[in-house]
Amino acid sequence: MRRVFIADLLKKNITITGADAHHLSRVMRSKIGDHIVVADDEGKVGEYAITGFTGDSIDLELIDYIAENTESPVDVTLAQCLPKGDKLELITQKATELGINTIVPLVSDNCVVRYDGKKTKAKQDKWQKIANEAGKQCGRSRLPVVEAITPLKDWLQDIVNQNTAVCMCYENEEQIGIKEFLCQMTGKEIAVVIGPEGGFSLDEIEFAKSLGITSVSLGNRILRAETAAIAAMAIIQYEKGDLGGRL
Ligand code: SAM
Repeated sequence: MRRVFIADLLKKNITITGADAHHLSRVMRSKIGDHIVVADDEGKVGEYAITGFTGDSIDLELIDYIAENTESPVDVTLAQCLPKGDKLELITQKATELGINTIVPLVSDNCVVRYDGKKTKAKQDKWQKIANEAGKQCGRSRLPVVEAITPLKDWLQDIVNQNTAVCMCYENEEQIGIKEFLCQMTGKEIAVVIGPEGGFSLDEIEFAKSLGITSVSLGNRILRAETAAIAAMAIIQYEKGDLGGRL
């Protein structure tokens, strides 16, 4: 069953407009009586029947609420330094499938790509669209939010004032691995920071340490940025979330 997300709250009768309505009516050639799943801003999900088409909008009537549970019990943020090419599109798609809640694209010393003002917003919109599509495909109850591109140090300074356990994946870390970090942490809010292809600068690692942020190893091999991001998210969801089934 097709899934759409609305920025409103579910109620008995709703009307779908915009790209979703266009896709359902013109591409999927939906008919009156067809059922679709609708998820709202609070993660509530319902099964609706199509009751009518008016212009470019579709009228729906609630059949029943769906008690689904596709959201992880932990709130995970992926803070990803901008990788080259379209890797952040892949990372965003996999982050969504892995139940991540927030994706923060970061600019750090060794980021090769730099976007100007206009391109920055266009990129954020593109990544959000990818997250939305992946959320529909994998049956998320809530869509991840892709935030605006932010300088690494600004984001680090901000996140340490929140009630979030932050780990910075660093290939030269020899003391603590991500597994140990996760076993030691309590709480339900986790942020993981991944560098660009060129890694973090020493200055960035020192800066993070000065804020009390823990750097963690993902093991003895040097992973590509996209591999590190996907592996770290999977490890977090396996250790603290619902990947591999809930206990
Ligand atoms: N400076 C690295 C080198 O020597 O080639 C390249 C950085 S790696 C390609 C990109 C990012 O993936 C790193 O900044 C780090 O966040 C993460 N990463 C890769 N391998 C890792 C590992 N074994 N432990 C922790 N983080 C790792």
